[in-house]
Amino acid sequence: MRVDEKQLRLLRMMDEIDNHAIILLDEQGNIETWNKGAEKIKGYTASEIVGRNFRVFYPEADCQAGLPAQLLAEAAATGKVYHEGWRLRQDKTRFWGAVTITASRNEQGQLIGFAKITRDLSERMAAETTIRLHAQDLETRNKELEQFVYIASHDLQEPLLNVGNFVELLQLEYADSFDDGARLYLDIINQSTYRMRNLIKGLLDYARIGREKTFVATDCQELVDFVKEDLTAKLALTAGTLRYSQLPQVMVYPTELRQLFQNLICNALKFTKPGQPPVVTVAAEMRGKYWQFSVNDNGIGIEPAYREKIFKIFQRLHTRETYEGNGIGLAHSKKIVEMHGGELWVESVLGAGSTFFFTIPVHQSGHPTNQTA
Ligand code: ADP
Repeated sequence: MRVDEKQLRLLRMMDEIDNHAIILLDEQGNIETWNKGAEKIKGYTASEIVGRNFRVFYPEADCQAGLPAQLLAEAAATGKVYHEGWRLRQDKTRFWGAVTITASRNEQGQLIGFAKITRDLSERMAAETTIRLHAQDLETRNKELEQFVYIASHDLQEPLLNVGNFVELLQLEYADSFDDGARLYLDIINQSTYRMRNLIKGLLDYARIGREKTFVATDCQELVDFVKEDLTAKLALTAGTLRYSQLPQVMVYPTELRQLFQNLICNALKFTKPGQPPVVTVAAEMRGKYWQFSVNDNGIGIEPAYREKIFKIFQRLHTRETYEGNGIGLAHSKKIVEMHGGELWVESVLGAGSTFFFTIPVHQSGHPTNQTA
C-alpha cells in the first residue's frame, strides 16, 4: 500500500490523539497499529500488543459469549457497529469503553480489516451511577418522609378530636358554672383546635398527593367550571370576577390539577386590596413543548424578595388576622406541578397584582376545547 504525504500526516495525527484509542485490526481482529490514546487508555505499549488479537481487551465472560467475534461480524455485515461495556486494561483493571468498529474494504469491495475507536467513559459512567444512586436514595427518603407526615398527621387527628369534643361538653354541661374569663379561655381553645384541625388536614392532603397514579385526559375548561362552582359564595362575597376561556385538554392527575387551580384561584380572590373587587383571569398558551397556564389577579402583589419563599410550606407574608390561611397551598401547588413534570413561578408588581404561571408538558396533552365561560 503506497502512502502519500497526506495519508502520512493523517497517520501521524491519529498517532498523537491521546484521549481516544484508534487502532487498525486485520480481518480476524489482530491488532496492526496502536496510537498514544490506546496506550494511555489500555496500558500496553505498541511493541507489547501489536500482533495480538483484540479479544484481550474483553472480560472472560464476554469472550466466552463470543462478543468480540459478533462485533466484527456485525461491522462486516452492516459497515459499522457501536458497543458500550466493560473492557480490560493491561493490569486487568476495568474501564467502561465506548467502541465503534468500522469495516474497511478495498476498491473491489473485499474486507481488508477494521478501524476501531475506543473512548474511556469510566468517569461519566461513575458520575451517572453516583447520580442514579443519589436519586434512588432521595426517592426512598422522600417516600419515608411522606409516609411519616401521613402517619403523624393521621394519628394527631384522634387526640385533637377528643380535645374538641370535651371542650364542647364543658361548654354544654358546665356553662352555668363558668365566669366570663373561663368562657373566653374555652373560646380560645376552640379556635386553636379548629386551626390545628385545618393544619393537620392540609398536611394530610399534602402527603396524599401523588398517590393517584394514572394520567387522565382532562378538560381544563370543565375543571375550572367545577372550581368556579365551588367558589360561588366566595365570588359573591367579594364581588369578584373569574374569567377563563378555551382552556386545553391535558393528560394529568385530575384531582390534583383541580386542587392546583383551586389553590391559585382562591389565593387570587383572597389577597385583594381593600375596597377593590378581585378580577382573576385564567389562561393557557402553547409554548413549544409545554402548555403554559397563568392565573392573574389585580391584588396586593408580592415583593420580589418573597417570590421564592412563598412556595415553601408554612411560609406566609401576613398575619392570620389580615389574611386567613395556613401557608400550605402554594407548597402543595408546587408539588402538584412538579409531579406533572412542569414548573410553577410567580411574576408580580407590588400593589398592582400577581400572575402565577405553571407548565404542563405537551406530550401529556390533547386538543384544546372550544367552550367559553
Ligand atoms: P395561604 O394562602 O394559606 O397563606 P399559600 O401557600 O397559598 O398559603 O400562600 C403563601 C403566601 O404567599 C400567602 O400567605 C401570601 O402571602 C402569598 N400569596 C399567595 N398567593 C398570592 C397572591 N395571589 N397575591 C399575593 N400574595 C399571594
